[in-house]
Amino acid sequence: MSLILYEASEGVATITLNRPETNNAQNPPLLDELDAAFTRASRDDAVRVIVLNANGKHFSAGHDISDGVRAYDPWKSMFDDVEENGLMRMYRWESEHFLGYCRKWRDLQKPTIASVQGACVAAGLMLAWPMDLIVAADNARFSDPVALMAIGGVEYHGHTWELGHRKAKEMLFTGEFISAEEAHRLGMVNRVVPLAELNDHVRTLALKIAKMHPHGLMMAKRAVNQTMDIMGQYAAIQAVFDIHSLGHANAYAARGQVTLANLAEMTAANKAQK
Ligand code: ZN
Repeated sequence: MSLILYEASEGVATITLNRPETNNAQNPPLLDELDAAFTRASRDDAVRVIVLNANGKHFSAGHDISDGVRAYDPWKSMFDDVEENGLMRMYRWESEHFLGYCRKWRDLQKPTIASVQGACVAAGLMLAWPMDLIVAADNARFSDPVALMAIGGVEYHGHTWELGHRKAKEMLFTGEFISAEEAHRLGMVNRVVPLAELNDHVRTLALKIAKMHPHGLMMAKRAVNQTMDIMGQYAAIQAVFDIHSLGHANAYAARGQVTLANLAEMTAANKAQK
């Protein structure tokens, strides 16, 4: 079974996260398939708008930190290489697959819409934030609890840009969820709709945008993204990626383990405390 589903009709490509049994936790194959789907939609002239949605109750639980994570080659080699090269391989891998993919998807030359239901946790944000519009079901909720790993947030620092500096700090300091309504009030989410209407609402919105001139859409997107970059958005996100990487290094120094490997354990311990 494919980790990502792809469908295109009436000018709208719909890309669906399809690992509902793990709440769409992101493992390396899922990220690669997702990137291939975005590339396919981007290269197909018949596609005017791209929708990213998710099967199951939750949009995404973040990176796959289950015990199985070491089975995947990129991460396996990363762990095996630590004694010799420190976290060099991890830095390279995260640069390409986390920071790099987010940047690439953010700058696709077609409008993108994230359709979010249920929990959108940690790296789940790294799928929603790079999209141009976010439509949330009324049960959607957003959090980045990565400070639990002694790291200052996920690899892609959208927090300050999306929420404003005070809410960004609150989100990171507490690890608490922000509701769909609050995310809407803060400007992180475009629209909140009843869960039962989410798919139809997003489809209608996508079809409406698909009728606009594709060059107009491309230029409009570029106008906004360039403005954000002139304000320093991407330079800041790159700088914070290095702060994130310092978090990995610090956690490794403190515990002698790559933090991804023991996050599952820490999260379970944290849950047990509640
Ligand atoms: Zn990381």
